[in-house]
Amino acid sequence: MANESGRTNRSHDVVIVGAGISGIYMLHRARQFGLDAIALEAGSGVGGTWYWNRYPGARCDIQSLEYSYSFDEQLQQEWHWPEKYSSQADILDYLNHVCDRFGLRSGIQLDTRVESATYDEERGRWLVATDRGAIDAQFVVMATGSLSSANTPDIPGLDRFAGHLLHTARWPHEPVDFSDQRVAVVGTGSSGVQVAPEIARQAARLYVLQRTASHSLPSNNGPLDPELEASIKAEYAAFREANRRMPAATGAGHLHAIHDESALEVGPDERQRAFEESWTKGGFTFTQTYRDLVVDRAANALASEFIREKIHSIVHDPTVAELLTPKLLIGCKRMCIDSGYYEMFNRPNVELVDVSETPITALTEHHLHVGNRAIEVDAIVFATGFDAMTGSLLRIDIRGRRGVTLREAWDDGPGTYLGLTVAGFPNLFTITGPGSPSALTNVIMSAEHHVEWVTECIDHMRRHGHRTVEATANAQRAWGEHVESVAATSLRTDPTCNSWYLGSNISGKKRQFMLLLGFPAYVERCAEIAASGYDGFQFDTSPAGIGGVAT
Ligand code: FAD
Ligand code: NAP
Repeated sequence: MANESGRTNRSHDVVIVGAGISGIYMLHRARQFGLDAIALEAGSGVGGTWYWNRYPGARCDIQSLEYSYSFDEQLQQEWHWPEKYSSQADILDYLNHVCDRFGLRSGIQLDTRVESATYDEERGRWLVATDRGAIDAQFVVMATGSLSSANTPDIPGLDRFAGHLLHTARWPHEPVDFSDQRVAVVGTGSSGVQVAPEIARQAARLYVLQRTASHSLPSNNGPLDPELEASIKAEYAAFREANRRMPAATGAGHLHAIHDESALEVGPDERQRAFEESWTKGGFTFTQTYRDLVVDRAANALASEFIREKIHSIVHDPTVAELLTPKLLIGCKRMCIDSGYYEMFNRPNVELVDVSETPITALTEHHLHVGNRAIEVDAIVFATGFDAMTGSLLRIDIRGRRGVTLREAWDDGPGTYLGLTVAGFPNLFTITGPGSPSALTNVIMSAEHHVEWVTECIDHMRRHGHRTVEATANAQRAWGEHVESVAATSLRTDPTCNSWYLGSNISGKKRQFMLLLGFPAYVERCAEIAASGYDGFQFDTSPAGIGGVAT
């Protein structure tokens, strides 16, 4: 606990905030480097995303053999995934297993929310205050997740509703029984398309409230093919390496090779065959059918038309099919991967409610109001997403040099160097932070890359007697320009796009594409910077601190 001077009698080399995929590996890696580290986790269990998002149907949309840690050969050989795409429960089991196998639980403090982190310039250390006391540390690693700050729309009457209010990202631990209930699902992004078909199977009536139709692709999930598993495990290291070379523009780290062709170079019959084949294979294979689906408008339109035809062939009611047909560019939003989403609309107990023109106006005791229509419901499920990339970081009162808060520093949008560090905040690292490829990739792969970069940087500091590391303001500015210029080459930043990538799902948030496209080039850049002796960073060896970094 902190004493009256604000100091604490608990001290560590590294405080890690969060015990999801990133925090768990950060703890393990820090220990491997002989660092005294502790991970603080707000939840009552480890797993992060996979601890919180336990809604029915929650599932990974990257194949299990890829969405798993690569850092330990024995672990990846011994672990068996039952399905091609893992369920939330299986991923959570796996992450608990990793904690046990590597003896990590002793370094994880659960039920502990970090409230603030304050840099002490004199001592070159951080004071991390939690709801259970304070800890002093040389380094703070924010492994707080890019999609961890749940967003519930501010609908008038939320507190008046007498039924069951749920959010996919804060799902209760006990089973929720929707039998005989009238349920509304608000939101049709990745979470909405997963949860709705599960609820439809149970509920008396399901209303799906759609503001924007998403592109959703079938997962074609099933048991993991034992032959595929054996063949990948026979050369797992090479498989991982190949995945790391995949571009983030269409998703890095996926199982399938991206075709080198343009959708515009081939004839209509061949293109139709190729789209059909990818659609049947399932998952992100579709977006990888041609190299230019998210960079060229005409190629994008061809893929969109194929999806439109698919929706119309699946959904019996043509009016519903048309409403479900996305009007936005493929890639504006993250593609959804579903198991029977469009098919669900053929059920007699399911109704699609269009809230694009007339929004949800209010909740009353038993009703959800859309304009003049009052829909009587027993439960409302918000599948309304996250204050992504910055939400969890800004919920913590982080104060760097001269007491400047991160909120102030990011007043004009989040600025980082490499998505890993922020100028003015020495010895603070952000795993999969804004300005890095983060959620545009197989995130477990990005998290491993960041954790390894951070521990190597700390090791470099130890070997050279440095006390602090900090991005220079110039390096950060140039990085921001780089992120922006790369984003401009993609349709994801088209003015017609609105997404959590751009922050436009949160009112008042600055519109800025917060992720970096181009995973392999990014990894190479991070390696070059480390090899150059950390170009763009300033180190301090003096006990008095370096007193501001202007260059
Ligand atoms: P998280 O798992 O978000 O963990 C962060 C942890 O930090 C949380 O446990 C949180 O409680 C804790 N925390 C935050 N703030 C504080 C605080 N102030 N004090 C203490 N603790 C704090 N990515 C993919 O690559 N493929 C997928 O298929 C995929 N599916 C997804 C499905 C869902 C439903 C969601 C929401 C995300 C999905 N993602 C997917 C992205 C996913 O978030 C990452 O893959 C990965 O799990 C992130 O791990 P993390 O440890 O970085 O962050
Ligand atoms: P999301 O993609 O941001 O979708 C939120 C949905 O809620 C959107 O359809 C949005 O409509 C709607 N919405 C928000 N406020 C609303 C309001 N007031 N009225 C009506 N509708 C409203 O969030 P998400 O589905 O939770 O997914 C977030 C990210 O998490 C994904 O992109 C993905 O990276 C990850 N994820 C992955 C999986 C997976 O399959 N593995 C599953 C879940 C999540 P608008 O589009 O009009 O804003």
